[in-house]
Amino acid sequence: MPEPAHLAHPRGVDVAEHRARVLAGLTPLGAEEVAVADALGRVLAADVVAELAVPPFDSSAMDGFAVRSVDLAALAEPAPLAEHAGSADEGFVALPVAATVAAGDTAPVLPPGSAIRIMTGAQVPAGADLVVPFEWTTDTDPVRILRTAAPGRHIRRGGEDVAAGEVAIAAGTRVGPAQLGLLASVGVDRVAVRRRPRLAVISTGAELVTGAVPDSNTATLLAAGRAAGAEVAAFGPVVDEPAAFADRLAVAAGAADLVVTTGGVSAGDRDVVKAALREAPGFWFGGVAMKPGRPQGFGSLDVDGRRVPVITLPGTPIAAYASFLLYAVPAIAALAGTPREPRTAELGVDVAGSDRTVLLPATYDDAGRIVPLPGHAGHSQRLLAAAEALLVVPPTDRLVAAGTVVEVLALRPEEDLHAR
Ligand code: AMP
Ligand code: MG
Repeated sequence: MPEPAHLAHPRGVDVAEHRARVLAGLTPLGAEEVAVADALGRVLAADVVAELAVPPFDSSAMDGFAVRSVDLAALAEPAPLAEHAGSADEGFVALPVAATVAAGDTAPVLPPGSAIRIMTGAQVPAGADLVVPFEWTTDTDPVRILRTAAPGRHIRRGGEDVAAGEVAIAAGTRVGPAQLGLLASVGVDRVAVRRRPRLAVISTGAELVTGAVPDSNTATLLAAGRAAGAEVAAFGPVVDEPAAFADRLAVAAGAADLVVTTGGVSAGDRDVVKAALREAPGFWFGGVAMKPGRPQGFGSLDVDGRRVPVITLPGTPIAAYASFLLYAVPAIAALAGTPREPRTAELGVDVAGSDRTVLLPATYDDAGRIVPLPGHAGHSQRLLAAAEALLVVPPTDRLVAAGTVVEVLALRPEEDLHAR
């Protein structure tokens, strides 16, 4: 006879093993098209091709005079330094000024043998191949030009940054403020982005339904899910009755790409999630070697041909949040097509190891090293709210020495929303 799971794994399976179980087979959701105005924070699903060149036309980089360089062939190049300019014995070329152009004007054609007065940002007149800055000139009309330069000088070429038809931003890029500006410049107003995973959160517990205990897990997990890039909805709390839970789960799974439940997964008489799903094909329930958060479960439901993963977390608030960060956040990233390596930090002090992964509310010292907050009391939500991160102490029978690089789970991910 096979051994019961709790005897085969007295300390529970490793965190990494459970994480791998949750992530196995998760593939990115499809794409959708959105207006650029709604694309902040989204991930591009396809390369964006420029419809317009950046800059859109040849423009002047200086205030000065647009000329034909052949008309200045009599001048030396490189020309004398500015302090020599205008001295009586220097040569000069005098050109009549045909027009003035400023930014926003349509430039006239430059007649041969003349100059057009031009302001920074203005379109370079057809025929001109050089802008002579005011500093190289005296008088106004005719303008006396004291030195010349190679053709193209002080002209920003249209398309020199991005040519029309070129890929401006690659698929997989997260859209932030600079990308929004570039999308505007290249004349694109709709983009294909990866679909945001829809996360359903179902809290369980009769004490939540009666209001005897406030439903803090729903508050935390909806926020953490949103910060991880999901669209979120609550389907709890639900009473501790397997049939009621199963009904709620079916509704939630029908509306979601990922379901997360809290509570009801340990070994009590009223452990509703486990009771409802224990016999469901492919579901696993057992202990994970982590503290807090030992009782865990995972499986997936087939909903109209879609595979909807269901992560069943323990109910204690710190355990639920820590487990969500360890298992659900990477699942959301996988569905969004933005997987990322776990975040790490250097440990600032020695920390005792144990036979399981330990999650400690922690903060960063001045050197950016991670340090547990004093007064750790297993289940303190107040301590968690004072922390910047959860320090993930790996299982070991030794001391984890200061300087060791450890995994950290950020508790203020919204500050980093666009850094992924
Ligand atoms: P359970 O895992 O269902 O046995 O719950 C463990 C403990 O966490 C109990 O004290 C519950 O009252 C509490 N708890 C469970 N779910 C929640 C929740 N959504 N919000 C706050 N506390 C909860
Ligand atoms: Mg419960």
